Amino acid sequence: MDIRVQKIFEGLFALEDLREIYRQALPSGLDQEEETRFTEKIASIREILGDLEAGTGHPKVTRIAETIELRTREENLINIQPIQAAGRLTPEARKAVISYGDGYSTCDACRKPFRLDKICKPPIATFHEDLAAFVGMDQARVVPGARRGFQAVTSTIVNRGDSVLVSGLSHYTEYLAVENAGGIIREIPVNEQNVLKADAAADKIEQIKQETGAYPVLAMIDHYDYLLANEHDFAGIAKVAHQYDIPILYNGAYTVGVMPVDGKKLGADFVVGSGHKSMASPAPSGVLATTDEWADKVFRTTQMVGDLTKRKFGIKEVEMLGCTLMGVTLVAMMASFPTVKERTLHWDEELKKSNYFIDHLLKIEGSKVVSEYPRKHTLTKVDTTGSFDKVAQTHKRRGFFLSDELSKRSIGGEFAGATKTWKLNTFGLSWKKIHYLTDAFTEIAEKYEINILNEEKKR
Ligand SMILES: *Cc1c(COP(=O)(O)O)cnc(C)c1O
Repeated sequence: MDIRVQKIFEGLFALEDLREIYRQALPSGLDQEEETRFTEKIASIREILGDLEAGTGHPKVTRIAETIELRTREENLINIQPIQAAGRLTPEARKAVISYGDGYSTCDACRKPFRLDKICKPPIATFHEDLAAFVGMDQARVVPGARRGFQAVTSTIVNRGDSVLVSGLSHYTEYLAVENAGGIIREIPVNEQNVLKADAAADKIEQIKQETGAYPVLAMIDHYDYLLANEHDFAGIAKVAHQYDIPILYNGAYTVGVMPVDGKKLGADFVVGSGHKSMASPAPSGVLATTDEWADKVFRTTQMVGDLTKRKFGIKEVEMLGCTLMGVTLVAMMASFPTVKERTLHWDEELKKSNYFIDHLLKIEGSKVVSEYPRKHTLTKVDTTGSFDKVAQTHKRRGFFLSDELSKRSIGGEFAGATKTWKLNTFGLSWKKIHYLTDAFTEIAEKYEINILNEEKKR
């Protein structure tokens, strides 16, 4: 690792120690002993800065609280890990982490009627309005992950034994949200191109009605799935679902925060997004948005009255268990939001970079794309059975030879040891990094004498 990265972390930590002196001191100021420690700490920070500027020195701090390694993956590597790309924090979010890390930090100015989404300082109430507008819906709440958004909806709508429509490429958290509510998962098959179509949804609905005597009570459909990141016909399926009066949830775990999403235009009754996957936010964070029509149901308030004390808790929402993201998770999400909003307008550029990389990977003879191609997403499943896996067959490190070679070039996040089918995500990489990444794969192929095709190759 670059010693400067190490020294940046040491500097940040030293500043935190300095901050701690103020947290321990009396409001009237530092006492003698505290002044001494302050001076010493400043001296050590100067030393760190000296090393930082010159690029000298040795790692002095390698653990937090003795056991936790520093995480410097984003500073030291080009990270192509499939689920991490769009969840990387913005600098604004990292500042929010520093400032709002204390437990219930959002609650300083919580006033009657005491609910997270009503707080004005920091501007959480406005953020909720902006968030709803951002996904083209009427109302929004923040939730601890997309999965908790699914859960709020299934718990509201699904009763024991009810069927719920999902895609044959649906995410496990959708399964669990249905199971949790006592429902039954019914999968709509994808077509030969691994794409979900409206006619398949219609057929499945009729089939369920025939088999069980009842229509499904909910559909949860991923616009882009997590396995291939293929685009599915959400709008078409929404139309079909509504013909049967089936409400439909738009699973935007891989879309909200990276590309424009207009829930109402797509025909969604609910829109769910993942903060830590696609909105440059810490985990666990996410959004659940809905229409005014459904808001009364999914955001219903408590009706419970204590039998002894007769207490009631007014506007606390049952599915949200009152308040949800009560501190740094929310504030960092808010801090990233302006950048996130802006970046969705440049999705076309992200696609160009994704396709540029994939086009070049396809020139490495024997390589294929499992996802639809040309790419409509930055997450892609590739198949290198005919290229890199051939090398792995005789290499003493087997499949790990590829990870070794990538790691030598400071590229990380691929599934270590995998040379057959594996996923990568280029989201957020600059053109400079895309070129570096592309060249690295080409170089590795050349090193192991895999042929590089010149002509445009179809998959
Ligand atoms: C990642 C993912 C989820 C889960 O998101 P969380 O925010 O971690 O709960 C759900 N569905 C799909 C399609 C995903 O890719």
